Amino acid sequence: MRQGVERVLISRAEIDSKVRELARALDREYAGKNLLIVGILKGAMIFMSDLARAMTIDVQFDFMAVSSYGSSSKSTGVVRIQKDLDQNIQGRHVLVVEDIVDTGLTLNYLLEILKAREPASVRICTLLDKPSRREVEVPVDFNGFAIPDEFAVGYGLDYNEMYRNLPEIYVLKREVDTY
Ligand code: 5GP
Repeated sequence: MRQGVERVLISRAEIDSKVRELARALDREYAGKNLLIVGILKGAMIFMSDLARAMTIDVQFDFMAVSSYGSSSKSTGVVRIQKDLDQNIQGRHVLVVEDIVDTGLTLNYLLEILKAREPASVRICTLLDKPSRREVEVPVDFNGFAIPDEFAVGYGLDYNEMYRNLPEIYVLKREVDTY
């Protein structure tokens, strides 16, 4: 096991089967619609690429990057857009793909911004959800795994830009974690 991680939280097999299950649900939900998947960089990158390839309907990609935790793993509620969408989403069906919903502050803010651009619909798909940490209500339409209040890394999720390429989801060691 990589230094700094404590134990596997979600295995590769569990991730694969959940990704297929979510893809089937999205295929049904968006059949016949022109779907734009918006990945939130960088954490959702790996999840989004697996999810999109497991889907059978036609989709288009776009990305946003927002500032989140930085080096200390605390949510500030102040969200800054570092990279905006390339496309106009007015009248489009938009699916925001996120790695994890924690306090909900990031997505709450993003949803406001996206809704103001008048898409036909905007929904959220997240790989992980920490419901016990929620500070603002956000409508999570498609959720992979609800997890306890622990700091998760791997499969796209980082700590100080590390661990994103781990194929499974791990719990960060307490002595590393500043959470
Ligand atoms: P929120 O605004 O919901 O508190 O935070 C969302 C963002 O915080 C996520 O997109 C992610 O970047 C970061 N985050 C929250 N919890 C975790 C965690 O357990 N592990 C990692 N790596 N990032 C987290």
